[in-house]
Amino acid sequence: MTARVNGEVSFWYGDIGGTPGYRPSLEGDVQCDIAIVGAGYTGLWTAYYLMKSDPSLRIVILEKEFAGFGASGRNGGWLSGEMGWSRERYAERSGRQSVIDLQRAMWATVDEVIDVCDREGINADIVKGGSLQVATTASQAVRVREYMEHEADWGVSAPDLVFLDQAETKARVEVADAHCSSFTPHAARIQPAKLVQGLARIVEGLGARICERTTVLEINPHQVVTDRGVVKADYVIRATEGFTAGIKGHRREWLPMNSAMIATEPLSAEQWANIGWNGYETLGDAAHGYMYAQRTRDGRIAIGGRGLPYRFGSATDINGQTQERTIEMLEEILVRMFPVLSGTRIDHAWCGVLGVPRDWCATVGLDPSTGIGWAGGYVGMGVATSNLAARTLRGLILAQNGSTDEFEEVGLPWVNRRVRRWEPEPFRWLGVHGLYTMFRSADRSERRRGAAQTSRSAQIAARIAGRD
Ligand SMILES: Cc1cc2nc3c(=O)[nH]c(=O)nc-3n(C[C@H](O)[C@H](O)[C@H](O)COP(=O)(O)OP(=O)(O)OC[C@H]3O[C@@H](n4cnc5c(N)ncnc54)[C@H](O)[C@@H]3O)c2cc1C
Repeated sequence: MTARVNGEVSFWYGDIGGTPGYRPSLEGDVQCDIAIVGAGYTGLWTAYYLMKSDPSLRIVILEKEFAGFGASGRNGGWLSGEMGWSRERYAERSGRQSVIDLQRAMWATVDEVIDVCDREGINADIVKGGSLQVATTASQAVRVREYMEHEADWGVSAPDLVFLDQAETKARVEVADAHCSSFTPHAARIQPAKLVQGLARIVEGLGARICERTTVLEINPHQVVTDRGVVKADYVIRATEGFTAGIKGHRREWLPMNSAMIATEPLSAEQWANIGWNGYETLGDAAHGYMYAQRTRDGRIAIGGRGLPYRFGSATDINGQTQERTIEMLEEILVRMFPVLSGTRIDHAWCGVLGVPRDWCATVGLDPSTGIGWAGGYVGMGVATSNLAARTLRGLILAQNGSTDEFEEVGLPWVNRRVRRWEPEPFRWLGVHGLYTMFRSADRSERRRGAAQTSRSAQIAARIAGRD
């Protein structure tokens, strides 16, 4: 019997033979045009589009571990065009049309990533099967309907978003306690580590330099201080998402929210016949502490959820190792949804961090006076978003550099959005833990009571958190 792995970055690396070897570190001081901090999707896509637009650019990417060590090598593999942030908040400052533009750009981004992978020869096990949000309680069913009404107010309706009743839902995936679901075709399943490793290879081939085991200590105007030397650059891009709190001066900017996953053993043909899921949709629910899942290339289910939401002082995990209690919680969800999987072996468990701004809205920006740019705060939806964010950064940088090319992404409502910082400790820890305790208890009580109403405590919690 195979022993369960906990950590080792993620299952996705186990799937490709383990974590990669290291590229050389930075050796001494260098000068370049653009320095990028962090070699996840954001940093690598930014380098990719900049090099494609101007191959003469000298780009240096500084990475404290290896390319794809962070969330980009650990996520649930939802390449999703969903806009999970508050449309109303963006509209307050930028108007309704710019929010509609952002939604359309997000949908198009799913195809953009798929097209680039095809063109560049990146095999990331991509299947564009759409995404299913299943209601597994009566109150979740009400929320699915409310969600659809809210989307309709923003012009999102069939075929971009459709309602499926219980029978239609179960015809796709046999979720035991399904009431109904919403379905969008704008999503694909991917193998995250294959995407990030492929991107790193392509970006290097285009001429960017990736320096691994090089920790950035400080980001200053036109300058990055690392443990291996100083990099001077016209532009410095911060692409560290969930790790941003570790950089001097940024501790309270984006909260490193934890998310954890487990991967089952490969399921038998009989189990799959029972479950269905032949469309490879990405699968989530409408719980307050929601779950997300995918059917993998080799016939496993990889399923994730919040677990321990946040570590005191914005600390991050070590190599993706997660808590036993979180693994048990994810197993419980798995078996509740698919009772046929009772007793199924869990082969791998892991976790990672994603970036959450205080207003829960993603942001991209560039300060022309300091040359410092950033992108992130995707709140768990960074797989597709990082690509659109990178194209936005390209537009902002090249416009400063005097390019005559027009990049419509620079008009998106997330550009140069500044929000207030998170509270200092211990309030940050108390607030986030309180929030998720309330969400978990609301999910339990909604399941127990079977009532159609969203629990009041969850409504209050979302409002206090600024998530609503
Ligand atoms: C478990 C989990 C599941 C998720 N599931 C999904 C999903 O299904 N769909 C979705 O859209 N999103 C999902 N997300 C979110 C998504 O993965 C992230 O938003 C996205 O990968 C962020 O990419 P990034 O490049 O900005 O950051 P990262 O991939 O985290 O990259 C940041 C890089 O910066 C490096 N770094 C950090 N500090 C320093 C430093 N001081 N010096 C140098 N380098 C540094 C890190 O080592 C890391 O490689 C998930 C996240 C997690 C953790």
